[in-house]
Amino acid sequence: MKLLEDRIRKDGIVKEGNVLKVDSFINHQMDVNLFDEMGKEWKRLFADRPINKILTIEASGIGIACVAARSFNVPVVFAKKAQSINIDGDVYACKIESFTKKRIYDVIVSKKFLSKDDHVLIIDDFLANGCAVLGLLDIIKEAGATVEGVGIAVEKGFQRGGKLIRDMGIRVESLAIVESMDATTGEIVFRK
Ligand code: 5GP
Repeated sequence: MKLLEDRIRKDGIVKEGNVLKVDSFINHQMDVNLFDEMGKEWKRLFADRPINKILTIEASGIGIACVAARSFNVPVVFAKKAQSINIDGDVYACKIESFTKKRIYDVIVSKKFLSKDDHVLIIDDFLANGCAVLGLLDIIKEAGATVEGVGIAVEKGFQRGGKLIRDMGIRVESLAIVESMDATTGEIVFRK
């Protein structure tokens, strides 16, 4: 999606450790008009899928998912980071390793908000090694719901997550795929 690629080129900052900072328009300050265009693009890409729910993960996916949900006219459920001691039988739970914070979180979704009748689109801001998406896929599986696809804002194509998820037969639509990025020069190359 050219709009997103142009914005990343203009305002994205490449950090050491394969981290792309997009704090000025996605992760801290949020450009809601851009999110709106992203939502419309996912709606176009997943037009053939009977999506009735969007699933994302706390915290950075929530803003994007909520705006995208306006294009789909469906509710958003976000997986919450939880303390292990609070996990009981009323929730689906999994462990997710955070790429940016390098720690493992327990995340939960209440059984009230995900069931076998749901057709779910996962949305997240970044796809790196795929831990976040794999965790959400686990939760969807536990619920017996159907995965209709995964919508990602920025996929780092040089990390393994994209291939991993696509090899599972799951449709992944990333609006910008970074082929390579250089923390020294700041150069970002997108996949064609
Ligand atoms: P994964 O679980 O695929 O390894 O990483 C995805 C998650 O880590 C996303 O939910 C995102 O919040 C965070 N993340 C991964 N890579 C980056 C990055 O380069 N920049 C930012 N801002 N977040 C990232």
